[in-house]
Amino acid sequence: MNFTRRVALAVGGGSGIGRATCELFAERGGAVMVADVNEASAKATAERIVRKGGRAEACGCDVARWDQVQAAVERTRNVFGRIDVLVNSAGILRVRRLEDTLEAEWNEVLQVNLTGAFLLTKAVMGVMRQQGGGAIVHLASRMALRIKENRGAYAPSKAGLLQLTRMAALEGGPHGIRVNCVCPGFIDTPMVWGSGTKEEVETQFAGWAKVCPLGRTGHPEEVARAILFLASEEASFITGAVLPVDGGRTIL
Ligand code: NAP
Repeated sequence: MNFTRRVALAVGGGSGIGRATCELFAERGGAVMVADVNEASAKATAERIVRKGGRAEACGCDVARWDQVQAAVERTRNVFGRIDVLVNSAGILRVRRLEDTLEAEWNEVLQVNLTGAFLLTKAVMGVMRQQGGGAIVHLASRMALRIKENRGAYAPSKAGLLQLTRMAALEGGPHGIRVNCVCPGFIDTPMVWGSGTKEEVETQFAGWAKVCPLGRTGHPEEVARAILFLASEEASFITGAVLPVDGGRTIL
């Protein structure tokens, strides 16, 4: 995968899978605008890339806010001149039963995980159409395909993202815009470590390893490679696809 002369806007790039994706994209020659609601973490990712000789800038962006999404898209075009790739890794997890989920919490999760994806897609599709094409990759989840307890708002938000991906792939196809999503399984990131106490998360990791065909949790870099494959020319005939990156967990 070579991204020389390619430009990516990577939202949620300040942490976990998004950060790993930004770093790999830059390693492979691309320029990246690292965007995140946490502007300090976006800057930290960009600084890591620049220290290694790559091209990166950072900006704050709350995907739930149309004005901020538009500003991030404009900033990317102003700094790097174009947008070839959108990686949407922004997401939040709330660990709660459906029946116990408050309306405000439901709205918050849907606003970031689904409405945010819609706003980003809408904002970059016009740019990519003018340029004659582009690639969009969303981060859904195994929870879009399977269910486990305490994912009351999260699982429905990620399932919606699959249909958003397909809808955008349908509309984008005639304009050379490919839209795909990956469904990670259990990946060792700050989001997972923030979902419970250290002991609880370690127990979950051990339980996962027992039922996952590859016998372990995943690393952010392993998801990053799948994302960038879908974003690359190597995937030139793939659009509307849903790719599990989960060590085989979803076959069971
Ligand atoms: P992460 O380490 O928490 O990274 C997500 C990043 O998105 C964080 O920097 C977060 O900032 C940012 N973010 C949150 N709300 C945002 C908003 N409104 N606008 C812009 N940025 C926002 O999580 P991750 O594990 O890398 O997850 C990346 C994506 O993969 C998410 O969509 C997640 O649902 C999905 N996923 C992860 C796993 C897993 O096991 N890790 C599994 C399946 C799917 P804050 O830290 O300030 O919130």
